[in-house]
Amino acid sequence: MQRKHYDVIIVGAGIMGACTAYYLMKTDEKLDVAVIERDPTYTRASTTLSMANIRVQFGLKENIQISRYALEVFKTFGQDMEVDGEAPDIGHHMIGNLFLVDEAGERVRKKDLELQQSLGCKVEWWPPEKIVDHYPLYNTKGYVGATFGAEDGIIDPYALLIAYVKKAKSLGAEFIKGEVKEIKRQGKEVTGVRLASGDELGGKFVVNCAGAWGPELARTAGVEIPVIPVKRQVFALDTAVKPGGDLPLTVLPSGLYFRTETGGLILLGKSMDEDPVGYDFRWDDKRFMELLWPELAEFVPAFDTLKLVRGWAGLYAVSTLDDNAFIGWWPELKGYLMANGFSGHGLQQGPAVGRYLSELILGIPPKLDLSIFSPERILENRPISDDSWAIV
Ligand SMILES: Cc1cc2nc3c(=O)[nH]c(=O)nc-3n(C[C@H](O)[C@H](O)[C@H](O)COP(=O)(O)OP(=O)(O)OC[C@H]3O[C@@H](n4cnc5c(N)ncnc54)[C@H](O)[C@@H]3O)c2cc1C
Repeated sequence: MQRKHYDVIIVGAGIMGACTAYYLMKTDEKLDVAVIERDPTYTRASTTLSMANIRVQFGLKENIQISRYALEVFKTFGQDMEVDGEAPDIGHHMIGNLFLVDEAGERVRKKDLELQQSLGCKVEWWPPEKIVDHYPLYNTKGYVGATFGAEDGIIDPYALLIAYVKKAKSLGAEFIKGEVKEIKRQGKEVTGVRLASGDELGGKFVVNCAGAWGPELARTAGVEIPVIPVKRQVFALDTAVKPGGDLPLTVLPSGLYFRTETGGLILLGKSMDEDPVGYDFRWDDKRFMELLWPELAEFVPAFDTLKLVRGWAGLYAVSTLDDNAFIGWWPELKGYLMANGFSGHGLQQGPAVGRYLSELILGIPPKLDLSIFSPERILENRPISDDSWAIV
């Protein structure tokens, strides 16, 4: 039977909610933890609609450390997350990430590279000849080089998510199908949630892991955060000329990115200023045909002949303050925490964020200090300063 009072209520069972539940239960199996998810098939969750990329190529130390922690976790993931003798396979492949650099971006990218290398990351500077040696289909005209991250790569996001859900359940977390309509508060303290069914669940701590719907949910508790849902589209392509091996996630300075997908397809996308704000999941081939294909074919001339196989749209939860996430306590509401605003990089951040939130709730000193992402900076109007290449 469903309990009516919990130590911790987590809203949303995407990667953030599932990881937070797992780390809480792993640390203290006696905790009563409820994770409330309105769609356990995850049709619209950003986690399952993502490009599945994991990279250490960021310009902010903490974002690099977060990804390095994910890489460490993935090394022994199968054995650590085994449930009833079944070890999950998350399909982690280090196919690399190649960030092309033009003259305008050279100073900042080299500064980022220095930081990444100082933290022990396997990222190198590649001159144009080396790029073509490895990837002969690429036209490097107009680029001064690229940074290549050998440990960057991809995983299967659904397998990763379900592994955390299963393990958290096996440790005693309760996953409830339902929609949270309101976060309840009494004065300056959170008291629980009200579901669409009318049921009310009490909780000492409520964690907002509702992804792109996080800001709406926060508003029900009187909390305003500068995060907006923005539609992003991905296209799957079958090219006439096959690259003859994996292409790394290749990112042009314009933001166009692509990589090989299992089955020999190419996945491609680009965040654009005109991407609509709101909960819109329609994808349109016109954008690919008119804008993205010509840009792709200029960089990879062999891809001027291809078939657009399918596409999809998902939502980035974009922090309009500084493109970085808000992780931790809301100072004006006791017991309320958030993990919102991860834009296009939240999948890889799940393990570190889940662990950090569990440490905050349990009063344990954090193993990786993520206080730079504290939501307090909203109240203080203090964006994280980072002059590096757009984080997305
Ligand atoms: C096209 C695209 C490409 C991306 N590529 C990458 C990438 O390559 N690498 C990377 O690291 N990240 C990537 N991301 C970003 C990443 O997917 C997200 O940052 C991350 O998955 C966010 O996880 P989340 O748990 O916060 O949100 P979600 O996965 O969206 O989960 C939130 C869950 O909350 C539930 N929910 C919402 N409101 C309620 C409510 N009121 N009651 C109950 N349940 C509720 C939703 O149903 C949903 O399942 C990409 C995102 C997109 C859209």
